Amino acid sequence: MYALVRVEGILTFEELLAKHGRGHIGCDVCKPAVGSILASCWNQPIMDASLVPLQDTNDTFMANMQKNGTYSVVPRIPGGEITADKLIVIGEVAKKYDLYTKITGGQRIDLFGAQLHELPDIWAELIAAGFETGHAYGKSTRTVKSCVGSTWCRYGVQDSVKMALLIEDRYKGLRSPHKLKFAVSGCTRECAEAQSKDVGVIATEKGWNLYIAGNGGMRPRHAELFATDLDDATLIQYIDRFLMFYIRTADKLQRTSVWRESLEGGLDFLKDVILHDSLGLGAELEAQMQLVVDRYECEWANALKDPEKLKRFRTFVNDKRPDPDIHFVQERGQRRPIMAAELNLIPVIEEIA
Ligand code: SF4
Repeated sequence: MYALVRVEGILTFEELLAKHGRGHIGCDVCKPAVGSILASCWNQPIMDASLVPLQDTNDTFMANMQKNGTYSVVPRIPGGEITADKLIVIGEVAKKYDLYTKITGGQRIDLFGAQLHELPDIWAELIAAGFETGHAYGKSTRTVKSCVGSTWCRYGVQDSVKMALLIEDRYKGLRSPHKLKFAVSGCTRECAEAQSKDVGVIATEKGWNLYIAGNGGMRPRHAELFATDLDDATLIQYIDRFLMFYIRTADKLQRTSVWRESLEGGLDFLKDVILHDSLGLGAELEAQMQLVVDRYECEWANALKDPEKLKRFRTFVNDKRPDPDIHFVQERGQRRPIMAAELNLIPVIEEIA
């Protein structure tokens, strides 16, 4: 399907179905898979009318649904670097909407407990302060973790934060068969844990070592050393090729680690394709990545400009009030969802007129 979409320039599910489909009009398996392929190829806003029906729950609302029906909001914090002013904005937004805040393993801040109707207002305030969506809800680039590197650390041999920012800015918004995590460490002490990421970069005296196809999760896999002592441009070139080759050949919902293990020819084959351009695909893969990069737009900023796209952010179609069945309790100075055992704590709710 990826090849059909790419080669024939197919832009919508309907077009794909009309040309190549048989049977029914799409199911919960094929629709998100086609949505992912279309996004990886053309990077159009997922809230566009023709693409919305292809998205799963989290993508549909550009937020992660939590166990009590509320959503989490995760602004991008590139490389984990943030100014005091932006930290204050996150704090102010969290206070205003009474959101539970937690620092994540990817060096950003999750805001939990937002109701559907609050999402556009929350994002409007965050975007006005310079934030962008963090794509925490998507099968896409998530985070680029970094240590402070040579700027602050006595052991650092390269500026790992600068490289992390370069990588995050380039690949943010890239949709793929599964989520993508990156990290950059400023020396071999590896404080950013780059060897547990889909793409890991570790500084050397001469440049950067590139590691690929690691992950944590249910089946942790140590990343493999792929290329050594690269300059900045070559590092980015190899990452471009690696990611696009993964996107075009991986199965749906397949992480880089599982994809890499399933590759016939293994690591040597992958090195031949990416480093030595054995299939003659290098320039094509780079051009495909550049198209996606050039088309990047914050999905939330895009949606906020279009009243039609915002219509779906209502708990009830015919009532603007919040969901009366969502309840919280206080714990450690913040609110959290009420548990079944605590149901007797629910305050009496005034009947909706
Ligand atoms: S990885 Fe190296 S440069 Fe980065 S914080 Fe750790 S010791 Fe310092």
